[in-house]
Amino acid sequence: MPMTPTSEAPATYRLIDGKQTAEDIKVEIAAEVVQRKAAGQKPPHLAAILVGHDGGSETYVRNKVLACERVGFESTLLRYEDTITEAELLAKVDELNQDEQIDGFIVQLPLPKHIDPNKVIEAIRPEKDVDGFHPMNIGRMVAGLPALLPATPSGIVELLRRYELVTDGKHCVVIGRSNIVGTPVSILLAKNLEPGNCTVTLCHSRTQNLAEITRTADILVAAIGRPGFVTADMVSPGAVVIDVGTTRVEDATKKAGWALRGDVSFEDVAPKASYITPVPGGVGPMTIAMLLLNTLRAAKGEIYPR
Ligand code: NAP
Repeated sequence: MPMTPTSEAPATYRLIDGKQTAEDIKVEIAAEVVQRKAAGQKPPHLAAILVGHDGGSETYVRNKVLACERVGFESTLLRYEDTITEAELLAKVDELNQDEQIDGFIVQLPLPKHIDPNKVIEAIRPEKDVDGFHPMNIGRMVAGLPALLPATPSGIVELLRRYELVTDGKHCVVIGRSNIVGTPVSILLAKNLEPGNCTVTLCHSRTQNLAEITRTADILVAAIGRPGFVTADMVSPGAVVIDVGTTRVEDATKKAGWALRGDVSFEDVAPKASYITPVPGGVGPMTIAMLLLNTLRAAKGEIYPR
């Protein structure tokens, strides 16, 4: 994809436009769905389970359902009160596992405290696990086998690919080691793949001399959940900065009373970076696009032949 400077971007750095890239991917998916329908195949069908009424989760799930409509998928939203028991939820998961009309499904996290998310994730059939969180998909990813990859890490890799950023031999520093972002992105970028072949350092809350390490990064990925944590003194000139953080902070200028803030102190860091993702409009939209792509792959039986 050509690298198009936007009006918000001074000459010194370029914004990595995740919103536009996600739109491009959705157009590609929609075209494939049209082709499949013309060939007499049913559209991919994504289901989402939402437990309780967490504001963030409601928004994420609503956006996922809307995205399905945009690309011609069918979608089903199953809502349960947070009084649902673990056994009841596991039974719902099993119903979706057995339902031949459903190609893939997600259980929106976080779940209420009385439900073990790992038990729920492990109950999902790997071929329908379009979030890519099941140990089978994680294990296949680590082994370099085809897998349904976790959406946020694969969205980051896809951004690097589409912006044609060189990763081979580069030092990538990832801050944050969660199972859904930090750890998998560190694995993907270390693989002998294109993009990939990075030398990766994975940092976390026990890391000593964090700023010393981040200053050696050619590519810096921040997935911490602490608004504005990464400041200019932690970034080397010319680094590619990927901000995964999305924390709601109070903002009286917004109608909702809050705004999303990334883990990177954008105004401070951007002038030092060569490329940087904004928040919002960077990694976030890519996560949904990659979820749709996983659902299409599941429908096609691309990873686990049906
Ligand atoms: P998480 O599970 O809370 O993990 C946070 C990680 O940051 C942990 O590994 C933690 O280290 C590390 N950390 C915390 N404080 C630190 C510090 N002072 N120095 C170094 N490391 C520190 O978070 P997550 O689920 O990965 O999410 C991270 C952020 O990304 C959140 O803002 C989340 O909302 C956002 N997110 C965005 C998307 C998207 O689509 N854009 C998707 C997923 C997540 P320890 O392991 O040592 O505790």
